[in-house]
Amino acid sequence: MSRTQYGSRRSIGSAAALALTIVTGATSAHGQVAPKAPEPATLAANAELAKTLPFANREDFEDAMRGFIGTTPDALVPGTGPRPVWNMKAYDFVKQSEPADSVNPSLWRQAQLNAIHGLFEVTDRVYQVRGFDMANMTIIEGDTALIIIDTLSTPDTARAALELYYQHRPKKPVGTVIYTHSHADHFGGIKGVISEAEVAAGKVQLLAPAGFMEAAVGEFIIAGTVMSRRAQFQFGGLLPPGPRGHVDAGLGKAGPRGAFTLIAPTGAIDQSMDRRVIDGVEIVFKLVPGSEAPSEMLIYFPQFRVLDMAEDVTHTIHNLYPIRGAEVRDGNLWSRYISEALETFGDKSDVVIAQHHWPVAGQARVVNLLKKQRDMYKFINDQSLRLMNEGYTPAEIAETLRMPASLEQEWSTRGYYGTLRQNAKAVYQKYLGWYDANPANLDPLPPVESARKSVEYMGGAEAVIARARADFAKGEYRWVATAMNQVVFAEPANRAARELGADALEQLGFQAESAAWRNAYLVGAMELRNGVPKVPAVGTVNPDTLRAVSNEQYFDFLGVRLNAGKAEGKTMVLNWNFTDSKQQFVMTLEHSALTYVTGKQAANADATVTLARGTLNAVTLQQTTFPDAVKAGLVKIDGDGRKLDDLLAMLDTFKVMFEVVEPKTLGH
Ligand SMILES: [Zn+2]
Repeated sequence: MSRTQYGSRRSIGSAAALALTIVTGATSAHGQVAPKAPEPATLAANAELAKTLPFANREDFEDAMRGFIGTTPDALVPGTGPRPVWNMKAYDFVKQSEPADSVNPSLWRQAQLNAIHGLFEVTDRVYQVRGFDMANMTIIEGDTALIIIDTLSTPDTARAALELYYQHRPKKPVGTVIYTHSHADHFGGIKGVISEAEVAAGKVQLLAPAGFMEAAVGEFIIAGTVMSRRAQFQFGGLLPPGPRGHVDAGLGKAGPRGAFTLIAPTGAIDQSMDRRVIDGVEIVFKLVPGSEAPSEMLIYFPQFRVLDMAEDVTHTIHNLYPIRGAEVRDGNLWSRYISEALETFGDKSDVVIAQHHWPVAGQARVVNLLKKQRDMYKFINDQSLRLMNEGYTPAEIAETLRMPASLEQEWSTRGYYGTLRQNAKAVYQKYLGWYDANPANLDPLPPVESARKSVEYMGGAEAVIARARADFAKGEYRWVATAMNQVVFAEPANRAARELGADALEQLGFQAESAAWRNAYLVGAMELRNGVPKVPAVGTVNPDTLRAVSNEQYFDFLGVRLNAGKAEGKTMVLNWNFTDSKQQFVMTLEHSALTYVTGKQAANADATVTLARGTLNAVTLQQTTFPDAVKAGLVKIDGDGRKLDDLLAMLDTFKVMFEVVEPKTLGH
């Protein structure tokens, strides 16, 4: 396969608010080790799975094409950069009906479904654009204007989706935008649909569930860098599309290239079952906080008999825990929300839509889908807890649990995104955390030291590799990956270990039904073979998100950036005085910890910094520096100005591209 596309995808990192990954530029095509062929054990595993699943049932394909109106060739969104923002052409290979032998056949089927793109009529006055981004844009025709639900990940894809709609439907203006939840693939394209000026002028109202803004920027300010790096593994943005590379993301085809945007909502839905009439359209909002996102809501349209389940009911097992890392989600609560939606709207819905995947039409089929999704999350939650209470630990629970046959044979409850195994471990994590109660695991040696001792005890790297080769030939890829990980952490330059480890991960990837797992395995293989990709990755903040971050969140992030070593033994007290919000803070550095109290100024402060928050944002975005801002009169410092310089010198700047499948070379 051609390697020329290696590293060419600008990944926005996610369906999950990780659009910060913005990996720019392409690496050289030289010196990359190509993927290998599937091994006999992989061919056998994929063939075996194919026999167990109901491939003759083509209902999903009919559902995904129902109401098709039109599309543009390859759903191409050129954008302004050297490479298209979005191009389905790269995935033409999934059109062949026989799955490639290097792809799990069930995932192949999902990849075909996620390659369908276009404008679709759901029912009279309800439309969806699908396959132009990871997520869907839903468009409701009000009496005088459009109500748009979710605006995709980037302005380019959102603009293209709306243009496609206008090619086929009357050109009514956008009157209302609704964000269903706080993940970036649902709001990042907002500026492709409306401008800030239109919102400021009151031409467009923007509605979101309560707590939207805090949730939208929260996790990727505090833990954004590491999540961005981990998201590269979950979404496989740097993998070239192809049968031995990227085939899908499970929830959609992929993340588009480009940065996301954000405009703050003009109104919050803060009461569940809130009923409103917007431009002649009756809408019932049901809040579902703490389900798939911290801030999320479902939407029901009584006059259309359409139920929009946002991202709580899709055609996959979703994540109680995404492998990019996040706070764990509550499977019991998630199930209960679906149950409540079923009770309230199930007998009044002729079609269920979501902000990913395709609709399901027919009242009985709506109920069937919701019941199975409700029970799938409840099953994972309760059966994991049952086994926990019988003393089983995460790996044991994951290995033991199997879906009931009725759910295992259902396409919508198979694990294309989340998996039963990772979600079972998530339940353990939610209730019991990282420790399995076995004191041998309470304080083991860290990876490198543990690996060195293990390899030494096992008779040295050569002996380990020789035995692992034999196991590889037998198809024991999970163990070979584990063993080679030990050798690589003991001897990162050991080429044979890296290659055998990569080979094992790759076979696991070729067998994985979950697109996220496949991507993780294949990215791991790629990095063992070629090292950490040399792609410049820009920071995790942009002007839109920075503006959305509260002063408290901003200071929390400064605390996270404080390098304890550099702060050792230092103390200072700084007053902060914001001229725009009139907020005041006292910040204290002591014991290598940066704390603050609000609504105060300290009499004994080393210095008082007076400025507008916008100036602080400009400094953060490196559009100016504190000294320049002081000179320009934008910042006033009373007292010992060197203290602020001292503080800035103690802050780390995070780099996204750290080592994952081998020891870290960065210092701390
Ligand atoms: Zn999403």
